[in-house]
Amino acid sequence: MAAENEICNKREQIREMEKRGDGNRVVILGGGVAGSHLAKSLQFHAHVTLIDPKEYFEIPWANLRAMVEPTFAEKSVINHRDYFTNGDLVISSAVNVTESEVLTADGRQIAYDHLVIATGHADPVPKSRTERLDQYKAENRKIKSANSILVVGGGPTGVELAGEIAVDFPEKKLTLVHKGSRLLEFIGAKAADKTLNWLKSRNVEVKLEQSVDLNSVTEGHKIYQTSHGETIEADCHFLCIGKPLASAWLRETVLKNDLDSQGRIKVDEHLRVKGRTNIFAIGDITDIPEIKQGFLATKQAEVVAKNLKVIIEGGRVCKLSTYKPLGSALAIVSLGRKDAVAQFPLLTISGRIPGFIKSGDLFVGKTRKQMGLSS
Ligand SMILES: Cc1cc2nc3c(=O)[nH]c(=O)nc-3n(C[C@H](O)[C@H](O)[C@H](O)COP(=O)(O)OP(=O)(O)OC[C@H]3O[C@@H](n4cnc5c(N)ncnc54)[C@H](O)[C@@H]3O)c2cc1C
Repeated sequence: MAAENEICNKREQIREMEKRGDGNRVVILGGGVAGSHLAKSLQFHAHVTLIDPKEYFEIPWANLRAMVEPTFAEKSVINHRDYFTNGDLVISSAVNVTESEVLTADGRQIAYDHLVIATGHADPVPKSRTERLDQYKAENRKIKSANSILVVGGGPTGVELAGEIAVDFPEKKLTLVHKGSRLLEFIGAKAADKTLNWLKSRNVEVKLEQSVDLNSVTEGHKIYQTSHGETIEADCHFLCIGKPLASAWLRETVLKNDLDSQGRIKVDEHLRVKGRTNIFAIGDITDIPEIKQGFLATKQAEVVAKNLKVIIEGGRVCKLSTYKPLGSALAIVSLGRKDAVAQFPLLTISGRIPGFIKSGDLFVGKTRKQMGLSS
């Protein structure tokens, strides 16, 4: 009851601020890890508009488990409205930004006092949660009906998918082709070696320094040609190559000079776009010199939530919180349901211990709790 009263009071305060024109309109672009977390944190402190092309937030590192066990997605695919109950939700993509407005693909113009860009990586997924769950069921049927499977790409997505299939469907012939000289190039070589050994121990054939010509595939009897002239027979394939940053559209906007050569948004220590006072960026889209991970995107969202609260409440700029990049790589890549490989600052380990940390529920319970939902 006390909590409900507090929410009512905060809603009332937001309405009062709006009447006074206090500049509390926050528009968040992107409902991924960073944007969703921020929308949840800020919803009772500002007038928040969340813009995302899909109706749901999805825990990205649970995707591969959902392909081998589609019911897993019922917990990892979360409608935005389940955690974001107080604010405007616009289901569309941002296509332009001016100094005061965002334009969306469906023709809306949305005014902002403060803008936060959290568009991460471009990933064309279905609009509704139901369609997304159906997609996982279809991918699961594809895996189940194949005797042999080709995974193209040896980054975290390809490795985690190969791990899931190798553990849940050990009878399938599995081949992974990667164009780099080692797997998991985003972390250290030791982690790559341990991963390669684990995959080999599960009878996964790994081909490095090769690419696959997907245009060469003949329907029915599927033979794939590699760049080394080798042939791979597989009933189906999964393309797990890195997704581009979702910043290409910003090149035609007032923020075109705020991108670095790789399309990342340049930010200052308070996570404001460099040289700007009312535009922030968080998550994978930023040029923060650290490994790109969801737990860091969440921390950045927390810093921006604090900073926007200070600004909206009329606090001084010297009160703004600072984001300190992580000094070294810290990541865990799951290898099926029980194992994983982990890169810690001074140590790389694989097997059951890192698997115990991540691979059981893939942090789904923890993430749902952070979003205020039952695990
Ligand atoms: C296989 C794999 C395993 C991983 N495992 C872990 C892990 O164990 N722990 C961890 O911390 N991190 C992990 N990560 C990394 C983590 O997923 C990312 O760092 C995280 O998703 C970044 O969050 P983000 O919000 O910046 O971007 P994203 O999660 O990419 O979200 C971007 C959002 O922006 C939306 N969007 C895109 N363009 C537009 C537009 N024009 N207008 C409006 N919205 C738009 C998208 O629809 C999406 O909702 C893993 C990644 C992969 C690939």
